[in-house]
Amino acid sequence: MAGRFVVRICEKTVVFGSFLFEDLLVFLLVADSILYGILTGSEKHSISNTKLCYTNSYREHFYSIMENSRKGYTMDFKPNKKLGFGLMRMPQTDPAHASAVDVEQVKKMVDIFMEKGFTYFDTAWMYNGFASEKVAKEALTSRYPRESFTLATKLHAGFVKSFEDRDNIFNAQLEKTGAGYFDYYLLHGIEAGMLPTYEKYDCFRWLLDKKAQGLVKHAGFSFHDTPELLDELLTKYPEMEFVQIQLNYLDWESEWIQSRGCYEVCVKHNKPVIVMEPVKGGSLAKMPEAAANVFTSYDAGKSLPSWAIRFAASLPNVMVVLSGMSSLEQMEDNTSFMQDFVPLTEEEKNMCFKAAEIINSQIAIPCTGCSYCTEGCPQQIAIPQYFSLYNEDMREDLEEKGWTVNFTNYNITASKFGKASDCVECGQCEEVCPQHLPIIENLKKVAAHYEH
Ligand code: SF4
Ligand code: SF4
Repeated sequence: MAGRFVVRICEKTVVFGSFLFEDLLVFLLVADSILYGILTGSEKHSISNTKLCYTNSYREHFYSIMENSRKGYTMDFKPNKKLGFGLMRMPQTDPAHASAVDVEQVKKMVDIFMEKGFTYFDTAWMYNGFASEKVAKEALTSRYPRESFTLATKLHAGFVKSFEDRDNIFNAQLEKTGAGYFDYYLLHGIEAGMLPTYEKYDCFRWLLDKKAQGLVKHAGFSFHDTPELLDELLTKYPEMEFVQIQLNYLDWESEWIQSRGCYEVCVKHNKPVIVMEPVKGGSLAKMPEAAANVFTSYDAGKSLPSWAIRFAASLPNVMVVLSGMSSLEQMEDNTSFMQDFVPLTEEEKNMCFKAAEIINSQIAIPCTGCSYCTEGCPQQIAIPQYFSLYNEDMREDLEEKGWTVNFTNYNITASKFGKASDCVECGQCEEVCPQHLPIIENLKKVAAHYEH
């Protein structure tokens, strides 16, 4: 419904431009603030288009809501609680096959999550060997009323080879999830190499069309590149409502990931942030003893992941922290400290940075275990598994020990997948690695360590 409103305030006529019905909320808030001003005797208000000028303590709060509404989202855009269930590392019945998800265990995890008042679920086309969206249907959408949860999923440029692919994937996602619509929809993992594909196939406009059709409630993207590129993107596509970035205390000042820089760009553009990899693929759950001691000597009762998740959630522009929980135990732990979330103190944030210094001085290959690299590997090399074993060994005093159990673990894994030395250096894995790791060089180190 379009219309025009003329409001008289202290003999001044203020004209709002044409606006749609959905902007009614903005009008009500304006009326509310005007009433507040009259009752409190604060200065006259003048309102012109989207700019507001008035002086009282209400101003900042109101202006932020006004701006947010103009840009397409309101305060109810954000879930009540800051923890999201990332459906990307779900428990498996067969560790060798990511798609072999233990659905019964996931159902129990979903039940705990929902019982405790959490609502945000995050899936994607290729998570858990392309099984994640189907599991979302089995464990969530077919078991709970649609309004009781929100679901996010994504379109990845790696699967878009034509204009038709966008709709084909989207329709298959609706079918797989049984969700009817998506509360949040993201263009997945944007970085400089992939951006041309998203633009070639007009994916930003396509996503806004989906929103106009009511099939998507909120449009955004996940991002793996520099703050400069993020700034360019948000300037070029201001309709994008939120951004998902990798953010954790280990990557806060990292030269590659630049969590802080990307977060600050989101703040500058007034975009809510969804955090991925808060525990850096488990690196902040299992860390060198000296780093762990920083936390345990302060409070032995809190788990190591709790510090990492609370670090991310303590940032004011963060609306959700995604945790790719893999067990009931992790679900119990994460929900325990996020149910009534308490932000970290300055002292506690500094403890995180101290631990980061120790971890960074010891981590050999900063792989998060996302497995994006393995899908197209012609040699079927178990890249993240090998990097994880190698990282563990590099923390050991190998000269003293001479051998670790990871030599056996490596041989077991290599009997099912390609060995590190089978790499033919085709480079496809490095093109898709969101951490920009020199995978080929790292595999040579792995081979030299385990295959001599
Ligand atoms: S460069 Fe090596 S590890 Fe990477 S995809 Fe090619 S064969 Fe696999
Ligand atoms: S090497 Fe890169 S793409 Fe592969 S699992 Fe590690 S972080 Fe992910």
